[in-house]
Amino acid sequence: MYSSTRGGENNRSAASAIKEGLACDGGLFIPEFIPLLNKDEIAALKELSYQERAFYILRSFLSDYTDEDLVSCIKAAYNAKKFDSDAIAPLVAVGSKRHVLELWHGPTSAFKDMALQLLPQLLSKALKITQETDEIVILVATSGDTGKAALEGFRDVDQTKIIVFYPQAGVSEIQRLQMATQQGGNVAVAAVFGNFDDAQTGVKKIFSDREFRKELAGDGFRLSSANSINWGRLVPQIIYYFSSYADLVKQGGISEGQTVNFVVPTGNFGNILAGYYAKLMGLPINRLICASNRNNVLSEFFRTGKYDRRRSFYKTMSPSMDILISSNLERMLYHITGGDTEQVSQWMNELAQNGHYEIGEQYLADINSIFWADWVEDNQTVETIRRVYQADNYLLDPHTAVAWQVADRYCSQTEDDTPLIILSTASPFKFNESVLEAIAGKDALKGKTEFMMLNQISELTGWPVPSALSALETAKVLHKSSCEKDEMPRFVKNSLIKQY
Ligand SMILES: *Cc1c(COP(=O)(O)O)cnc(C)c1O
Repeated sequence: MYSSTRGGENNRSAASAIKEGLACDGGLFIPEFIPLLNKDEIAALKELSYQERAFYILRSFLSDYTDEDLVSCIKAAYNAKKFDSDAIAPLVAVGSKRHVLELWHGPTSAFKDMALQLLPQLLSKALKITQETDEIVILVATSGDTGKAALEGFRDVDQTKIIVFYPQAGVSEIQRLQMATQQGGNVAVAAVFGNFDDAQTGVKKIFSDREFRKELAGDGFRLSSANSINWGRLVPQIIYYFSSYADLVKQGGISEGQTVNFVVPTGNFGNILAGYYAKLMGLPINRLICASNRNNVLSEFFRTGKYDRRRSFYKTMSPSMDILISSNLERMLYHITGGDTEQVSQWMNELAQNGHYEIGEQYLADINSIFWADWVEDNQTVETIRRVYQADNYLLDPHTAVAWQVADRYCSQTEDDTPLIILSTASPFKFNESVLEAIAGKDALKGKTEFMMLNQISELTGWPVPSALSALETAKVLHKSSCEKDEMPRFVKNSLIKQY
């Protein structure tokens, strides 16, 4: 059963928590009971495929889903048509001491696929389990990556529709093409005249417009979102912590039961929170190392116990981590305080009203026995991409480079020599321009289209260009709509009518 971090709801089934997304008191759903895996169970994972490991983990949390439900969700999400690696999330050794967990072999070449391939399947089954008859309409405002990953995940999934808004002048050419060429009978895409904030504000307005929602409900449509506070997006991420641990044992990198550290490039705190759940479930994790870019609100929090969003927002070369409010932190606070929902509500209210809160020394000490955090400037990120490429012939994307650099600092400042697994959250192909500039200099970009850059990265790494990206050059553009931000509600209505 699931309950809210703020105490206003409990005894929700997994299916119902996944269908609702957010609890009605504004809190996030957390599992009331955390399943424990003993040593033998963890050791047994070694002999299983990724899909089988997924089944094992999901089953321990989603007890209202039947085994058949889970198997069919997993088959639809993690298969050879969608992932270009049989391992799904392969663990590769880089240099003599480090291991990199590549989370970008899915259809959009970034880590969001790990969750957004499975969430729509879990949601669709949740509708059946809760006997929901409405269609779910997923609304997304995207600065680029999440929109495409959500479109791919939801395309042609039963009883769902997805509508994505992106800023007309705010995405790369490849990102625009990824969305404009999206296939699927239940998808709609529009460019909004304005920036990401305009698109996001437009979507939020639609969500809070009671009249509009009522009107849609009359036609059998219910709005929902696919963002990373949904439990159905978090639980798939727990799988790869166990999976990479099992692979490291299997590869001989550690012995059974030995502890490891994970280093995680962090934005909304969803990815690293899944690692925290893995630890609570018994995976031998020593430290979870939280890596941020110049938007360093989290590293400051881990140092001082003060969370303060009253600061400048920076655009960096690791844009998926450009975030000032890390929503999933709320779940960690719930567990650290032993489920003190009043305390969590108070902090979250302070954050909403005053822009900051402080957790005090005792909780901070508890957190610091598990987490360690630091942040990296763009110039160091560039330097890290270049350095690792030259030393180890391995090309990092900017997000993973942030994690790599923070791992270096951790090792030099703590003398902890626990084996490290670095989570790699995007393929270097996805951020081709920044990556090429890092290793070949600005002049190397002159006169090149993004497709030429993809080919150049392929030559440098010896890795093939991900087929979904190379296919974009000739793919048919299916979505040409654009609208003013005031016209977004009408676009939603029109696209729902058109599809019926
Ligand atoms: C979303 C994202 C992150 C941040 O993950 P969170 O779960 O939000 O902390 C890091 N890197 C990439 C490439 C991402 O897309």
